[in-house]
Amino acid sequence: MPALDADVIIIGAGAVGCAIARELSRYEASILVLEKECDAAYGTSGRNSAVVHAGFNNKHGSLMAKLCVEGNKGFEALAELLNVPYRKTGKILVAFDEADMQELARIKARGEDNGCTGLRLIDGTELHALAPKLRGIGGMLSENTAIFNPFEYCIALAENALVNGARFVFNSEVTAIRHDDTGFTVTAGENLCRCKVLINAAGLYCDKISAMLGINDYRIYPCRGEYFILDKIAGSFLNIPAYPVPRPGIGGLGVHLTPTIEGNIIIGPSAEYISERDDYASTSEIMAKLFTEALDLLPGLERRQIIGNYCGIRPKQAPPGEGGFRDFVIKNEPAVPGFINLIGIESPGLTASVPIARMAAGLVSENMPLKPKNDFIARRRGRVKFSALTQDEQQRLIAHNPDYGEIICRCQNITKQEIRDAIENPFGARSISSIKYRSWATTGRCNGGYCMTRIVDMLVNEYGLKPEEITYRGKGSEMFSGRVK
Ligand SMILES: Cc1cc2nc3c(=O)[nH]c(=O)nc-3n(C[C@H](O)[C@H](O)[C@H](O)COP(=O)(O)OP(=O)(O)OC[C@H]3O[C@@H](n4cnc5c(N)ncnc54)[C@H](O)[C@@H]3O)c2cc1C
Repeated sequence: MPALDADVIIIGAGAVGCAIARELSRYEASILVLEKECDAAYGTSGRNSAVVHAGFNNKHGSLMAKLCVEGNKGFEALAELLNVPYRKTGKILVAFDEADMQELARIKARGEDNGCTGLRLIDGTELHALAPKLRGIGGMLSENTAIFNPFEYCIALAENALVNGARFVFNSEVTAIRHDDTGFTVTAGENLCRCKVLINAAGLYCDKISAMLGINDYRIYPCRGEYFILDKIAGSFLNIPAYPVPRPGIGGLGVHLTPTIEGNIIIGPSAEYISERDDYASTSEIMAKLFTEALDLLPGLERRQIIGNYCGIRPKQAPPGEGGFRDFVIKNEPAVPGFINLIGIESPGLTASVPIARMAAGLVSENMPLKPKNDFIARRRGRVKFSALTQDEQQRLIAHNPDYGEIICRCQNITKQEIRDAIENPFGARSISSIKYRSWATTGRCNGGYCMTRIVDMLVNEYGLKPEEITYRGKGSEMFSGRVK
């Protein structure tokens, strides 16, 4: 088995693991990230509402509230630094009656206690000025809520950590961990890895990783949230996330409507406890319920606007029956010196990912000295987004490089050069999903009907892959088994 050594090993390349890798790459320490999937953001970090929350929903005094408010305050600057698409849209909690308005006054007071700013109760006139098609008698506006691209966010954190010396090993599922006086021995796929400090950022599997070291205090209950994706109607229908007033005990924030940074609208998520952590199936009952609940908020929606669906799974510590939220657990485990557990990082884990990472780095420094580097590179160069450029800028690019003149994804206007940039990205994207997360190709109304074959063609004819090697999302999702003629 190949041996890999590092000062710190992080298990999991979701937003949290990648943010920790970036944070630790500021210091003179060797960092290794082990991820079971073939890329970053394949877990919960790529399956969510993509909202930068303000922090008014979380219990006052909780770690969730503190880290969410902190994350929200720093997000805009971070997104600019890492070149991640981000837009401060604000968000409305919609009231349907006076009882809702009274609940919103309580939520506003809690938010202000948590340190949120920009919260305002609004009447029906202001509600309809902000979102003319919404139903409701008023609501609460949160001015500092934002939307962003969570895939690009994770990838940006990972790329920036990589540039600063962190190593990532994908397709490496951690299956066993041994601890002795000198540190940890981690079996991950083909590799045997050694480290002084081990960080568990395994999301839905955090309790299993913890149990590998004999700490059985945690249990994760998977709670699925299903979504619909609507066509690019955000501009004309809704430009601001719209949520119902949260009801206690449902295990989520209720079915909401969220414009995406790319101009779609997503409807969801539902909240349903399930038995399997990898059960990403969508169910017709829940999907029907989602649409009905969405119509309560936005009556003009039509089924023909639906172009796709997906789901994410919450790593809940609260068992079915209890529902609701339990606070993040982020701690050094005294029973296993050098082991840092991150348990139950459900929403608002994306918003809070960088403050979580800072906290984790603080815990690492209790185990080993962390000396700051003087050559940390904080900025990441972003990708060229051809469709967002002016016609003059587009012409200049095409004159210089004809691959900008060939459209591969017609729905999203993605050029051949943008696909090439995705494939040649620092991590070397080879699966269709990894190319999609980096370029946004295949995400339009035709669901890849036009561009998928062209991307496959590029992988085969320009990058030398055999068709049988091409996967949708890594091993087990091979797309071709041989020639038919
Ligand atoms: C429906 C839904 C909506 C949400 N909406 C929002 C939102 O709008 N805003 C917000 O801030 N938060 C939101 N969240 C929460 C947010 O998505 C999560 O808190 C965050 O993504 C957690 O990141 P993570 O890195 O801890 O977990 P993950 O992204 O799941 O990463 C964990 C990684 O560990 C890997 N792994 C697991 N086991 C092993 C192993 N044995 N070996 C190696 N690797 C392993 C997994 O493959 C995975 O890549 C939402 C969550 C859900 C489910």
